[in-house]
Amino acid sequence: MSAQAPHGEEFRVLITGGGVAALEAALALHDLGGEDLAVTIVTPNEEFVYRPQLMREPFTPAVASTYSVAEIARRAGARLRRDRFRWLDPRGRVLHTAGGECLRYDAILLAVGARTHPRFRDAVTLDDARLREQLGDLVAELEAGALGSVAIVVPSLPIWSLPAYELALMTARRARAAGREVPVLLVTPEDSPLSALGMSASAEVAELLAQSGITTITSASCQIREPGRIDLYPLRSSILVDRIISLPELYAPSLPGVPTSAERGFVTVDSHGAVHGLVCVYAAGDITDTPVRHGGLAADQADVAAQAIAALAGVAIEPRSLRPALHLMLLGGATPLFIRSQMLGEQGVELEVSRDPLWPPDQQLHSEYLGPLLAELDAERVGGDPP
Ligand SMILES: Cc1cc2nc3c(=O)[nH]c(=O)nc-3n(C[C@H](O)[C@H](O)[C@H](O)COP(=O)(O)OP(=O)(O)OC[C@H]3O[C@@H](n4cnc5c(N)ncnc54)[C@H](O)[C@@H]3O)c2cc1C
Repeated sequence: MSAQAPHGEEFRVLITGGGVAALEAALALHDLGGEDLAVTIVTPNEEFVYRPQLMREPFTPAVASTYSVAEIARRAGARLRRDRFRWLDPRGRVLHTAGGECLRYDAILLAVGARTHPRFRDAVTLDDARLREQLGDLVAELEAGALGSVAIVVPSLPIWSLPAYELALMTARRARAAGREVPVLLVTPEDSPLSALGMSASAEVAELLAQSGITTITSASCQIREPGRIDLYPLRSSILVDRIISLPELYAPSLPGVPTSAERGFVTVDSHGAVHGLVCVYAAGDITDTPVRHGGLAADQADVAAQAIAALAGVAIEPRSLRPALHLMLLGGATPLFIRSQMLGEQGVELEVSRDPLWPPDQQLHSEYLGPLLAELDAERVGGDPP
């Protein structure tokens, strides 16, 4: 293959971000274009945190795995710049960084994720960086019998609502294990529990919640105007509970130079990840305007964009378009519930739901390149073979 930029030098790809989408794209580009693509990752992150493991941290001694971004970049044959996206000059094909650099590109992938923001002042809003601290008190109070009731709230969509369900299930389970009867309430704007997965998977989740004694209120928006009181709409009723825990709301980070016509500043892309209205600019992951935010989906978007960028660079491939699939392992019941949901366009959804593992249980992040590399890095740490 030959990856030649119009200026006759190597084809320069910039990737902004250091999460699932950015790292998956770097690995995919390495596989597709090898040494012929000059890939640079621009991110302030030193570590990649395995988010799917975060929610269980306060309930178990296990700690979420972290990986060196520099090591992943090295395996992807990419350069790493500790810097941030500041603004884009798409005409001049220059990324201006927070550190004052002007980085020229032939193609750029925006993978800077979403920003989280608390919706309610009088509720505990979950924060990835402080989950153990935030939920540690909850666990202690549950066990001591100091809490009469707990509500978990999904304030608005789009967000990956799975952590709310896991938290509700783990809370109910921990209270039961401590011999406490603590009513747990889950309030969500979704039409049915985890409705993005399709009706039959949603029905399974609803049953699991009911069996665990969790009351679920769907299609609800709510206001919390004082500690311990949830005002529900359109029901126009209020519920009093001892503790309210809310997911955050998601917004796009500010991206000057990039058209953000979608609600809350998210970026609209076509089925190959190209940003609407711009040339040679691609986006993947939580920054894009997808109805669901999910690590596996972010990785697939990254693979799709990487293929389109490789084709642009002259690699002889037919870039594929997105084939959204959600792989979800719902923790918190007696055994995890495995759900695989493949969107087949006009042919609907292909769904598998099982209590037997549909994939290795330690792989909660489904991706072609990053998941296997993380397994490899885990194995190197303990000195074994990857699973
Ligand atoms: C608690 C929790 C549990 C979850 N569980 C699951 C699960 O079980 N399975 C699953 O598939 N998904 C899960 N998700 C969702 C999944 O983590 C996200 O969908 C996924 O991380 C999105 O990847 P991303 O690369 O788009 O964004 P992120 O992973 O958020 O990465 C964005 C990156 O961009 C960097 N960045 C930000 N601004 C800039 C800038 N200006 N310049 C350069 N870099 C920048 C950030 O530092 C970060 O490294 C969970 C999410 C949470 C919060």
